[in-house]
Amino acid sequence: MKNKNMPTLSQALKINFKAWRILFKEYPHILFSNVLVSIWSALSPYVGIFLAARVIDELSSGKDSKTVIWLVAVTLVAEAVIALLTALLKKYKETQSAGLYYKVENIYTKKLLNTDFATVDDPATQELLTTIRQNRNGGGWGIYRMLYDVELLVGALFSTVGGISLTVTLFTQSVPQSAGDFTVLNNPLFLIAIIVAMVIITCAAPLLDSKAQGYYAKLAGTLNLGNRLHSHFLYVCADKRYAEDTRVYRQYVYCEKYGNDKTSTFGTKGVFSKYSKGPVGILCALSAAISVVFTLIVYVFVCLKAWAGAFGIGAVTQYISAVTKLSDSFSNILRTFGAMKNNAPFLRLELDFLELPDKLKSGEECIEKVADDEYRIEFVNVSFKYPGTDMYALKNVNIKFGNGRRLAVVGKNGSGKTTFIKLLCRLYDPTEGTILLNGRDIKEYDIKEYGRVFSVVFQDFALFAMPLGENVATSAVYDRNKAVRCLEEAGFGERLKSWEDGLDTMLYKVLSEKGVEISGGEAQKIALARALYKDAPVVVLDEPTAALDPIAESEIYENFNKIVKNKTAIYISHRLSSCRFCDDIAVFEGGQVVQQGTHEELLEDTDGQYSELWNAQAQYYNERNS
Ligand code: ADP
Repeated sequence: MKNKNMPTLSQALKINFKAWRILFKEYPHILFSNVLVSIWSALSPYVGIFLAARVIDELSSGKDSKTVIWLVAVTLVAEAVIALLTALLKKYKETQSAGLYYKVENIYTKKLLNTDFATVDDPATQELLTTIRQNRNGGGWGIYRMLYDVELLVGALFSTVGGISLTVTLFTQSVPQSAGDFTVLNNPLFLIAIIVAMVIITCAAPLLDSKAQGYYAKLAGTLNLGNRLHSHFLYVCADKRYAEDTRVYRQYVYCEKYGNDKTSTFGTKGVFSKYSKGPVGILCALSAAISVVFTLIVYVFVCLKAWAGAFGIGAVTQYISAVTKLSDSFSNILRTFGAMKNNAPFLRLELDFLELPDKLKSGEECIEKVADDEYRIEFVNVSFKYPGTDMYALKNVNIKFGNGRRLAVVGKNGSGKTTFIKLLCRLYDPTEGTILLNGRDIKEYDIKEYGRVFSVVFQDFALFAMPLGENVATSAVYDRNKAVRCLEEAGFGERLKSWEDGLDTMLYKVLSEKGVEISGGEAQKIALARALYKDAPVVVLDEPTAALDPIAESEIYENFNKIVKNKTAIYISHRLSSCRFCDDIAVFEGGQVVQQGTHEELLEDTDGQYSELWNAQAQYYNERNS
């Protein structure tokens, strides 16, 4: 059956060529060194083949011993120089290709870093990247294999040229007329028949190989699933983070199942084994057998011509080696085309990923020109659906805030609070409606400059395994006094004093044994300090006290005005008691702003969502305290 996803050869070559360009743009020396070594490795053996034949010719003709000695010396020197250059070139290639896995990964990382959040956050993007990585890890498909194919193709092309130049005379040198019946070897028809037979056999072997490889390409989905299951259960179960639970809940049985099950993907009764024992095995065996037939034909033809007196014994070794090599090279050209065709669908996925367009377009307007240190933000009828979903996460949101006031955003889980912030920071664009900054649609501003307006502590913030100070300043060169001040304001002052290396203390043990493991609450304070260090005009804190103990939490509230100074602040929390110090409170429910006002105003509406939440939480605290 024809595979609709399989590109034609010309489409496959175009896809491969595009992928070469990407690799060449990022790492020109990898491609260059691989091509150089391939050309060298393809041509250099012919020097040895040619010289060895001359030595044998001289020896068998029993002529001048000086010529023999001179030829042997040239052969030895040539082989020594070739060996030396081969070693040097291979070292050069090895150096350039070192860490190829990470270099390919770096191409993906660069794309992700230069892509807007909406594209990165899209589940389809993540799924695509997961598939690409599984193809690479499972079957070695993609850019990885492409490099190997380039190497093989270039080597084969040059080796073919070298082979032809040493083989032409095999067909042009005639058997003398005195050879009787052997003169049939001079008949052009006979020569054509031999050449056709050789070409057919040369083509058949790689076609069979390529067909065998095609089975594995078609099985990539199965391989990926097997890989996914194996990596999950074998590696994840062995991960330190799972160590407690796997013991308490006996989850190690999963690992045993995937490690030992004969019918699993890689088991002896699994799908791969079935194919290896079946069609793939048969095709590979046939390919090997056909190659033997080829060698047989070459030996018979060359020996018959030598026997009949067309050339000397030295030429026999030259022709047999050269023709065999030529056939191998030609086979490799076809084999590589087959491999490139099989690899093309996997490369296409990588190209799809690397060519993903940004979802958000940047405007050109400069913030400073319009801001004047006043930041008035307005949501006008804003609605939003996450990509790939039908549900509105926000619906008809109309709200104004800014000018140094504090806005509290409250509501139950899933009511749309974080989505509201993501839209405000232009991580996503609204599906409908407009967000205005100082009266201008935020899409008109330069997107990078617009990002500088906000200091945000997201709920799922992340710190790097780097020194504390660098985490706070997000830079290796920074103002140390300012970093200390921000950490103190965020409530991390006492802890900082207790650390011998102060700001230079490495966070986490991932990269250093001296690193410190920090609690969720400590991490939250450092994230807050990082937001303060950025010193942006609008500060957004999304559940900034969720991981803090009650004392640290009340410290943050008490110091809140000192912390955010005259900036506009947005404070998200589902703990209503923490919002009382804000000037305005917006209550979200089901993606809508259902109430807005001060704490007192909202409590007056006894049927309102705010009063309901307030009473429920007050009752909980009263019960806990009684
Ligand atoms: P809150 O911050 O109030 O807990 P969110 O803004 O995180 O609520 O979520 C609002 C709604 O959007 C929820 O129904 C949630 O499941 C959905 N949602 C949040 N993030 C995504 C996402 N990346 N993709 C799809 N749906 C999402």
